[in-house]
Amino acid sequence: MAYDDQNIFAKILRGEIPNDTVYEDEHVLAFNDIAPQAPVHVLVIPKGAYVSIDDFGAKASADEIAAFYRSVSKIARDAGLSEDGYRVIANTGGHGGQEVPHFHAHILGGKKLGAMLP
Ligand code: AMP
Repeated sequence: MAYDDQNIFAKILRGEIPNDTVYEDEHVLAFNDIAPQAPVHVLVIPKGAYVSIDDFGAKASADEIAAFYRSVSKIARDAGLSEDGYRVIANTGGHGGQEVPHFHAHILGGKKLGAMLP
């Protein structure tokens, strides 16, 4: 699947629509989900143009991949989630229910989460 530079997260990265940033570095932007499904619901996205975790894992540089996964754990830690735990989800493609075709990880926490799948 080719990357669609009109997706909503691409527009956020270009500053065309606002976001509630919680973390940013050279390779990564993280912001609060607009429709939170837990007390903490942060989306972590690479700044590079990757459609999904599948695309990211295949094409991203080692620096981008390291920055991404380090940022996920840092954001969760800084949000106070480490002790009680949290969940990281990367919906991928049609069966995975991915709505926005720019790779993102959901960090969910702040309460006891339910079953992994309904
Ligand atoms: P997914 O179904 O994994 O692609 O998740 C997409 C997520 O993006 C959903 O949880 C939406 O609530 C969230 N979302 C969509 N638009 C925005 C936006 N402008 N700012 C923050 N989160 C958004």
